[in-house]
Amino acid sequence: MVDVALRKLHQMLREAANRSGKLPRLVLMTPEGTRVAVYVSSKGATSPDSVTVVEHAAREFQRFGFVLPDGSWETDRKWNGGTIDVLPTLRLFVADPTNVATAQGAKTGLCTFCGLTNRQRPPFFHVECARYFGLGDL
Ligand SMILES: [Zn+2]
Repeated sequence: MVDVALRKLHQMLREAANRSGKLPRLVLMTPEGTRVAVYVSSKGATSPDSVTVVEHAAREFQRFGFVLPDGSWETDRKWNGGTIDVLPTLRLFVADPTNVATAQGAKTGLCTFCGLTNRQRPPFFHVECARYFGLGDL
């Protein structure tokens, strides 16, 4: 099913890749505290041109699924199901990236736009990372 918010998320990641010349990564947090990483899929991926959504954890790597260019969601075949629904978290971020990144960064100490340690003061993310995602008026 095509999802306008997910299509926008896909577009943000693709544009960030073009602007930065690297493969950018978003790190988001679900209400349950699961860290989720979102990045442009590598060329050899199961779903090329997609955006991959995985658990951002050192152990027990879990891939949730992929966002396709048209905004449709493809659950990873190997996902054990679980109870984690990452889609509301992704949609929430797309609706208000700057505020979500600030709130999450204050909580986690990480920059939402790269996943590395932030500067521990507002806006709790790296402004230069946010620019890659089209938040240029910061
Ligand atoms: Zn950053």
